[in-house]
This record gives sequence, structure tokens and C-alpha cells, in this order.
Amino acid sequence: MPRPIQAVIHTEALAHNLRRARVAAPDARAWAVVKANAYGHGIERAFEGLRAADGFALLDLAEAERVRALGWRGPVLLLEGVFEPRDLELCSRLGLWHTVHHEAQIDWLAAHKTHAPHTVVLKMNSGMNRLGFRPEAYRAAWARLNALPQVGEIVLATHFSDADGPRGIAHQMRAFAEASRDLPGERSVANSAAALRFAGSDEAVRADWIRPGIMVYGSSPDFPVHDIDHWGLQPTMSLRARVIGVQAVQAGDTVGYASRFTAPGPMRIGVVACGYADGYPRVVPCGEPGTPPTPVLVDGRRSRIIGRVSMDMITVDLTDLPDAGLDSEVTLWGRASGGQVLPIDEIAQAAGTVGYELLCALAPRVPVRVEP
Ligand SMILES: *Cc1c(COP(=O)(O)O)cnc(C)c1O
Repeated sequence: MPRPIQAVIHTEALAHNLRRARVAAPDARAWAVVKANAYGHGIERAFEGLRAADGFALLDLAEAERVRALGWRGPVLLLEGVFEPRDLELCSRLGLWHTVHHEAQIDWLAAHKTHAPHTVVLKMNSGMNRLGFRPEAYRAAWARLNALPQVGEIVLATHFSDADGPRGIAHQMRAFAEASRDLPGERSVANSAAALRFAGSDEAVRADWIRPGIMVYGSSPDFPVHDIDHWGLQPTMSLRARVIGVQAVQAGDTVGYASRFTAPGPMRIGVVACGYADGYPRVVPCGEPGTPPTPVLVDGRRSRIIGRVSMDMITVDLTDLPDAGLDSEVTLWGRASGGQVLPIDEIAQAAGTVGYELLCALAPRVPVRVEP
């Protein structure tokens, strides 16, 4: 028998979450963002759940080839554009849309031979100061692209630094609107957080292509202010393992490396076949006095981690779960087989990070099963 750990991908939950994105911006088209191997889910595994998308947005040519190999003939967008001139050949061959965010990419296009003009997404740096042309350079970049026979449609785009936080997007929306005011073409600005928080009240956020990522994968972009229940999202990846050992300890006994947990009295402890080498974060609190509990579901019931997460094992408290024991199902995040939910955002918070990082870090050694 293989080691009893598994990640389950929930196809219907992916489809549900994508529909939820469309509710936020009913008239927009939606890119399903599948960079980072569909946020750790696997592009091939997530594809069925996301096939109602209008396009797939991703980072590199290898991912684009995988989407085409799945038979997808609709739009595919390279979110960072091409990295060198010869990448444009594959863009032509596969019909990829690509982001243009610096001058050299325009030079490369101008020197590129293609039969069919490319659709490009011209990116503005409206304040995040990562990729894109500054507002004062945007029009000139647009004019250069517009004059190239290699270029067909030009979509206007920007990306928000604070769509999930208190600063919000107003300052960037203003910069984007002003610098693109009378330029023709479709617009694309909204990531998950902007779609959920601002698309309802601002039609410029709803236009014309939204780019939902994290929400599609069942993590709330603004947790803990709002959880997935609030946004109507469902977990799409569940990490489940089984109890492979049980210990009875007495008051004063310690558990695990560095003796981080000391039993205050008699306790039952379950040893779970999941560790940091599976992608579970090692840094979560392990039951020390004064730390918040790190939740797990044991046979669908909430318990907590006690003792430090090790490479291959986690120890959990079974004291109040007399029916739990060897072979009990432990859900580290996502949905238990009985349906109970432990949002990945709670684990991410315990680890001082975000759902994105945990999803992307699912280890290759974890077997993955795709459920309808
Ligand atoms: C990753 C990414 C997105 C998706 O962001 P989420 O926060 O996951 O919704 C949208 N647009 C761009 C340019 C991105 O790089």
C-alpha cells in the first residue's frame, strides 16, 4: 500500500468558483489564470473544471503548449510576455496572446516575421512598479505597437498591488484611466480581489477581461477579513492523510522535535502521514502555550496540531475524539471526505503566509486524484 496521503482536486468546485467570478463581472470575459501549474493543481488536472473559461492566462511557453495539447483552441495569454525574440515564433505557431511591458519586446515584434498579426496586451505600470510602461510612456508604446503590421488587437491592461488590502485600487484606476483615456481597445484590470471587492461598484473594473486566479482555487484573496464562505467559494484542493500511529502520553511528556509541546495531562496523540516534505508548512504553531491552535480535521472533526511538524509526520490531538485512531482520515486543508471544510486560508494564516503559497508548494511526492 502506498503511503496514505493524497491530494484531491475537486473539478466541480473549480467550475463553481469560475462561475462565481463571472457573477462578479457578468459582461466580462474571464481568463482562468493557470500559472504556476494552475496554482499547484496541475494544468491537466484543473483543465476540465476550468474549460468554461474564455481563455487561459499563464507564464511560459511550456505551459502554453500544455494548454494547446489539451485541445484548447481559444485564447491563451502569456502574462509576462516573451522573454527573448525567438519566443515569438511559438506565439505565432500557437496563436498566443502576449503581454508587452517593455520597449525591447516591441523591438522584437517589429523584427518578427508572421503571417497572422498578434493580439498583444499592453501593460501599464500604474503604481505597482513591477512590470509595465509608466503612464507617461504608455501612449507612445501604444502608438509604436499600433503601427506594426505584426500587431492586430491591442488590449490595455494593468495590475493592482493592493486590491486585497486597505489601500485599494482607486489610485491605480485613476492613473490607468487617465493615461489610456481615448485609446481604443479592450481593457483588463481585475485580479480575484478586485473582481470580488470592486467590480460590483465600478464598471471600469468589470471591463472587458477579468483575470481571476486565487479565487478559482478556493482561497479568499482578503482572508481573514473575508473567508471563502463569505465570497461563496469552495475548496478545490484537499490534502488528506491517515493516522499511522497512536501514542498515549502523560502529564509532562513532550511531543516531537525540540519538545515544543508538553502534555498538561493524559492525552492521545495521532501520528499523521504528512509532513513538510509533502508541502505542509513547518512553521505553524505546534500547541505551545499562548499560541493559537493550528487546525486539522480528524474524521471531519476539528482538532489541532501538537508538536513540531516534521519531514514526514505531523502529530495531532485525539484526546477529545475517542472514536479516532489508527487509519482515521486527517484533512490538512480543503474538504474532508465527509464534506466538512477546513479552508486553506486558516493554515496559511497559521504559517504566516497566503493560500497561494501553500497551493503552489504541494510536493511532487503527493499522489493526486481528480474528482468530478
Ligand atoms: C497572477 C495574476 C493574476 C491573478 O491574481 P489572483 O490574485 O490570483 O487572482 C492576475 N493578473 C496577473 C497579471 C497575474 O500575474
